Amino acid sequence: MSSVRSLVTPEKLLRPEVLALHAYHVPPAGGMIKLDAMENPYLLPQTLRDEIARLVADAEINRYPDAAARELKAAICKVTNLLPGMDILLGNGSDEIIQLLALAVAKPGAVLLSVEPSFVMYRMIATFTGMRYVGVPLTEDFSLDLQATLDAIKREQPALVFLAYPNNPTGNLFDAAAVRQIIQAAPGLVVVDEAYYAFASDSFIPHLPDYDNLLVMRTFSKLGMAGLRLGFLAGSAAWLSQLEKLRLPYNVGVLPQLVATRLLEHHDVLLAQAEDIKLERAGLLAALDEISGVRAYPSAANFILFRVAKATRIFEGLKQRGVLIKNLDGGHTALTDCLRVTVGTPAENQKFIAALQDVINQLA
Ligand SMILES: *Cc1c(COP(=O)(O)O)cnc(C)c1O
Repeated sequence: MSSVRSLVTPEKLLRPEVLALHAYHVPPAGGMIKLDAMENPYLLPQTLRDEIARLVADAEINRYPDAAARELKAAICKVTNLLPGMDILLGNGSDEIIQLLALAVAKPGAVLLSVEPSFVMYRMIATFTGMRYVGVPLTEDFSLDLQATLDAIKREQPALVFLAYPNNPTGNLFDAAAVRQIIQAAPGLVVVDEAYYAFASDSFIPHLPDYDNLLVMRTFSKLGMAGLRLGFLAGSAAWLSQLEKLRLPYNVGVLPQLVATRLLEHHDVLLAQAEDIKLERAGLLAALDEISGVRAYPSAANFILFRVAKATRIFEGLKQRGVLIKNLDGGHTALTDCLRVTVGTPAENQKFIAALQDVINQLA
């Protein structure tokens, strides 16, 4: 039947840049203390969980979701203090929004620019969508290199710039004045990615009306809803009404819409958990600073980046002791011997610190 044609293989058919990609790797965490993915470690109060159980029991999952997600959008606008004239677009996680933005601007030769090291999905999605990716190195302490970034913007004329604020995986908040200069200099869109807004002291949401090329992206993943997959993009209706055309109509399901709408009525509960996490972050940083051979970096997010002498051996040693964090060694050259730990509950953080001390002692 198929003898007339030669074998169809992925190698022959797929775009070379897709063949060259490595899939985003998520290791199994079964039974371990999971401090690798910036999740909120706290469960919801029992009353709220019961409320959600009743909502889910009555949900019409035989129906398509509300394609416009009106109630959820109203709930998000309320907790986000959006200014008049600003609108939002919903994504199945903010990863989906990065992809949608890239798809929208990916004319032949179009450039997506970000800084490095930063969120790896910017580069991956540029590749998915056929954009050219340009990464501008951060300085040695992971600050923006403003001159280098402005030079690169002038040279590359990027259609899309992503700045994670605070940055992942470094944890720091860039200088706001430098970010504003980048927005002003950029010939295309600048997206400030505020995935960690709940843990940071600053936001660009209030600056949206000041710039015609600024959009702010947020996710609820780091605030305690990672399992729901919900992110949003905030900006002027002029941009969002165009971008809406690329949003797949039912990208946020019935259950995420229902549950997130209800949870956002209790935004204060989630923000209180974020405050606890910020307190724990300070304790964790102090504990890391106490361990000799560890250099921890300041963080405005719910994780801490730190450098050790033998990152991979320490990562493996922690795993053997039942603690999973993220090994960044072998990725970007600026992250040689770097590890990233998500802030957990007090008990989890204690176990992590004890395990880390133990591994380091044993390797010494
Ligand atoms: C986690 C993260 C995201 C993506 O979050 P979603 O779960 O896809 O909403 C986006 N940007 C940064 C910087 C992140 O760290």
